[in-house]
Parts: sequence; structure tokens; C-alpha cells
Amino acid sequence: MSFEGLPKGAGNKKLSWRDSIYFWEILRGMGVTMGHLVRNIFNTEAMPTMQYPEEKRVYGDRFRGRHRLMKREDGSPKCVACQMCSTVCPADCISIDGAEHPDPKIEKYPETFVIDLLRCVYCGLCEEACPCDAIRMDTGIYEIAADSREKFIVDKDFLLNNKDQGTR
Ligand code: SF4
Ligand code: SF4
Repeated sequence: MSFEGLPKGAGNKKLSWRDSIYFWEILRGMGVTMGHLVRNIFNTEAMPTMQYPEEKRVYGDRFRGRHRLMKREDGSPKCVACQMCSTVCPADCISIDGAEHPDPKIEKYPETFVIDLLRCVYCGLCEEACPCDAIRMDTGIYEIAADSREKFIVDKDFLLNNKDQGTR
């Protein structure tokens, strides 16, 4: 062991048996821990931690939560499969297959619309790029826990009903 850089004599001090088992340091540490424990038990209001999931942090209106696809009045997606969102996405996590819409006034619709939430960086560029306000990140849902990777790959049906689905 090298004592280079330490004050002269440091490292040579002979420790007593009690010092060598760090008795007082352990006792002092326990005292600090117990002090916090007692203070927190009798003053839960002042605790900086939250009782999640019973308590949840309130985020501002501009907070970007999980995506949703907007619907027309008939419940079909507003999306016209223009691919603007998937083109601008820096994480390359949106994939869309467009198809011809049965209504001649609407050119296309997304036959499939998939977002890989594990790759998404929640930058919001997709909603900014959309020319018809068909994708939003205003669900306020930020809890995305699942027990498999596949469950993070969300499809059109999921995105159309995202606001009602809660956590996944
Ligand atoms: S929020 Fe950003 S990273 Fe996520 S899907 Fe939209 S553009 Fe892609
Ligand atoms: S969500 Fe908007 S930008 Fe993306 S394909 Fe649909 S219409 Fe185009």
C-alpha cells in the first residue's frame, strides 16, 4: 500500500483494537440514521420523498407523456399516413404502412402505425411535424413499465385509445 501524497506520519498510526473495528464510526452513523428515521416518522409532511404510487407528482401542461393518435368524429384515425413524423423522428422508432382511404376526399390512412417506446426519446418532434394534429403527447402518462420488450411496441389500436388505457 502506498502512502504517497498523504501528510507525514499518516498511515503509520497504530490503531487501538476498538478503533480498528470502527466502533465509534459505526455508532455515529447509526445515530445519524436513527435521527432521520425518528424525524421522518413524526414529520411525514416534510419528507422529500413521495408515497408513490398512492401519491403522484403533478406535471405541467407542456409535459410530454405517452403518445396518442387523434380520432375523426367517426372514430377513425386523423392520420393521413404522410410519414412526416416517422421521417423527422431522430430515434427512427415510428413505422407506418399507408393504404388508400375508402373516402375519396381523404387520400390515405395508416393501415399500421407502430411506435417502439423503448427507442423513443420523447423529443416531441413527431407531434410538431404532423400537418394535421393527428399525433399528440398530451396523455400525461409517464409510467411505462412492462415485463417484456414486446409490450413497449405499441400499435395503432393502442395509440388510438391510449388516454383510456392507463399503464401497460
Ligand atoms: S417523441 Fe421523438 S423520438 Fe419519440 S416518436 Fe416522437 S419524434 Fe420519435
Ligand atoms: S401522425 Fe401526422 S405526421 Fe405522422 S403520418 Fe400521420 S398525419 Fe403524417
